[in-house]
Amino acid sequence: MLKLNDIHVYRGQTYVLKGVSLEVGRGEIVALIGANGAGKTTTLRTISGLLTPKNGSIIYTPEKDDPPWDISGAQAEDIVARGIAHCPEGRGVFAQLSVRENLMVGAYLRNDKKQIEYDHERVCHMFPILGERANQAAGSLSGGEQAMLAVGRALMTRPRLLILDEPSLGLAPLVVEFIFDMLAEINSQGVTVLLVEQNAVMALKLANRAYVLENGQVTLSGPSDELARDEKVRRAYLGGE
Ligand code: ATP
Repeated sequence: MLKLNDIHVYRGQTYVLKGVSLEVGRGEIVALIGANGAGKTTTLRTISGLLTPKNGSIIYTPEKDDPPWDISGAQAEDIVARGIAHCPEGRGVFAQLSVRENLMVGAYLRNDKKQIEYDHERVCHMFPILGERANQAAGSLSGGEQAMLAVGRALMTRPRLLILDEPSLGLAPLVVEFIFDMLAEINSQGVTVLLVEQNAVMALKLANRAYVLENGQVTLSGPSDELARDEKVRRAYLGGE
């Protein structure tokens, strides 16, 4: 569904991604793990069109029979419209807007009113607190509730591929577990997931496959259960001996 081929990205003068290649298959949950500053956020921002790679291609095939599309350098808005939703680091909710208004921001490129209401109900069914707090300012929600709102807003775009940047950041373990359960649920409903996580234990539990990013390059990849047993991964990312 998504294939990054030898992606190189500079941020200002800094050479951040030094030839990243990775693949996300339709229906999969793929995790991208790595230390602070390894380039995980940069990878996601490049996929969603917020950064432009210097070299390389990002081939996206929304549906099986669609023609492959090189989205490297495409407008972020066009990429969202074709089904890639980005849940950014730090959630990015609009504090002054109500919870419902935040969710509707996710639907701003759509004009299928009935479907939008249907999706709004589905999101509120998945995260009941978002229905209960519909008219409350998003800034008054707890961190966990804001994380749910960010996922809900991304779902309002009707994504085929949901990419998430550190959804667990700063959240209590029970909340993280709830959000990860919901990601599994969203995936079982047909949405492909690409997840960046510092919490490698949770990420490897959820994902089918994973990539390890170090210093702007993929250094390891494979099925999550294999990576979870890998000596180097255990030592560097899973707190093992
Ligand atoms: P983190 O978990 O800290 O977000 P990350 O793996 O997501 O880490 P990135 O945020 O992609 O890493 O950052 C990768 C590198 O790019 C870092 O060395 C960072 O200092 C650098 N960088 C990030 N943003 C910019 C910027 N706007 N200008 C210059 N360098 C940047």
